[in-house]
Amino acid sequence: MIIVLKPKTKKEEIDEVVDKIKKRGLKPTTFEGVERTVIHVLGEVKEDDANSMKSVSCVEKVVRIMKPYKLASKEHHAQQTVVKAGDVSFGNSDFTIIAGPCSAESEKQVMESAKLLKEIGIRVMRASVFKPRTSPYSFQGMGIEGLKLLKKVRDETGLLVETEVMDVRDVPIAAEYVDIVRVGARNMQNFDLLKEVGKINKPVILKRGMAATIKEFLMAAEYILMNGNKNVILCERGIRTFETAYRNTLDLAAVAILKKETHLPVIVDPSHAAGRRDLVNSLSKASAAVGADGLLVEMHPNPEEASSDGDQSLYPEQLADLLKELKPICEAVGKRIVENGANKG
Ligand code: PEP
Ligand code: MN
Repeated sequence: MIIVLKPKTKKEEIDEVVDKIKKRGLKPTTFEGVERTVIHVLGEVKEDDANSMKSVSCVEKVVRIMKPYKLASKEHHAQQTVVKAGDVSFGNSDFTIIAGPCSAESEKQVMESAKLLKEIGIRVMRASVFKPRTSPYSFQGMGIEGLKLLKKVRDETGLLVETEVMDVRDVPIAAEYVDIVRVGARNMQNFDLLKEVGKINKPVILKRGMAATIKEFLMAAEYILMNGNKNVILCERGIRTFETAYRNTLDLAAVAILKKETHLPVIVDPSHAAGRRDLVNSLSKASAAVGADGLLVEMHPNPEEASSDGDQSLYPEQLADLLKELKPICEAVGKRIVENGANKG
């Protein structure tokens, strides 16, 4: 519920309204504007709560938010959220591409990837160090050693770095080493993890679970927002359908609807959606056209030797070509690709 107070409402009157809300077991947050004070109320707001507020003399209007996701909804926050990490942004006119290997594998592979990404013009490098693998016998990631390598990338190349967290205990550690943390598809409804990333002050990429509805996706974002972290970037990465020709079905309608429903930035991961590199170019361009704020793409210096997801990882030159091909599409939708250093135009 949003309570808009009349202009020139006195401090004592505001305090009275706040007390009244608290007595009803609800959680008010007060925003003092130049003209008016607005109070956002969280919790299970009942008809009776709204009516009792309407009768207070300093209250101009009461708007009930009907969506189950309150903080994530445009009803709550009409203005688009721009999430910033270092000098890059998500949610404004920038089209920000995060790229890199699925996993950090060795110092050589990480540094080589970073060098290539920088040459291509990418500003943010991805590399997972904690790996959610279907098989416990598959490569599980480099752990903290990998985080140290990402810090090295940051220090030596100036690239921003991004990685996945799977365990609540790793959240504060990862947040020390990287610029952006990611909650993967498999953990979209790991509520303890969501609460934990809600307590850090780094941007969080929240990937859509492979069988999650849009509502469930936004409710998961709500957990992060509710715990104080407003820097949430949603990532569509394909959902599981009956189709077997590719790994997942990229739900581009999700991007379009999320853009209507929420003020949070939305990016697309075409790599995990496709599961094969030959589709990544088209899916990336379609994502830009539908209004995504950026991409999360896998690229490996030698995909044949990758410890994970080699089949879907682009060769470095394919990523360079993709950037070139994306430019006119981004331009057509009023966006500009963020490239290393300055926007190369
Ligand atoms: C990833 O981005 O490395 C990943 C594992 O993706 P997802 O969580 O979407 O499967
Ligand atoms: Mn991967």
